[in-house]
Amino acid sequence: MGSRGAVARLADLVWPPHSLLSDAMVAAPGAIEPDLWASLDFLTAPLCARCGRPLEQDAGEEAACGPCIADPPVYGRARAALAYDDLSSRLVLDLKRGGRRDGLPVFAAWMAQAAGPLIAEADLIAPAPLHWTRLAARKFNQAAWLALTLARRANKPWSPAALRRVKRRPSQAGMSAAERRRNVAGSFAASKRVVAGKRVLLVDDVLTTGATADACARALNKAGAAAVDVVTLARVVRPQDVTV
Ligand SMILES: [Zn+2]
Repeated sequence: MGSRGAVARLADLVWPPHSLLSDAMVAAPGAIEPDLWASLDFLTAPLCARCGRPLEQDAGEEAACGPCIADPPVYGRARAALAYDDLSSRLVLDLKRGGRRDGLPVFAAWMAQAAGPLIAEADLIAPAPLHWTRLAARKFNQAAWLALTLARRANKPWSPAALRRVKRRPSQAGMSAAERRRNVAGSFAASKRVVAGKRVLLVDDVLTTGATADACARALNKAGAAAVDVVTLARVVRPQDVTV
């Protein structure tokens, strides 16, 4: 936290808060105008029991989508608050690239709504890690901010030391699912000391193809985690949105 943080805090006191989705002034930090809020695509049942993808028809609480039946994920269950689209991508990019933090309590509330049972059953909340060189350059990991905010809200332990990224890989933007899978394979290592025997809830900003979540889950399983679930702020639903 350098002088920028201090300036941002001072700015909160001097300037009225702005909407998370526009330049409009709002009553409180983290607020969104009602019409834009209503345009956000919150993911609700019926969902695939495994990956959380919206299903066309309600086939029961245990129903999985075609891709999960054909090639089951390594993680147990994934849930996301929002479909990743033009509107929600503004929230994600402000958080990830802009380091904007006033939405965190709202995002954590949405994620808690989307993943209630996963959070209740978790022993430990862990963020998807950045490679340390990337963290040093960026100064923050948005997944860690989300994980910490969610853990505080749920009164659950969190650990940024559960997982680390042992290989730095190119950014995955624009890669296909198969390329992403190869790109992240072997990129993560988990701490046995921190995760052995625990039900771990992995937190990230976006679930795109699930390649990163699977690679993290594989590392956590190898370190003896009892289960791995995933919660993200947003989730790609349409293949054309695999650009993040
Ligand atoms: Zn699925």
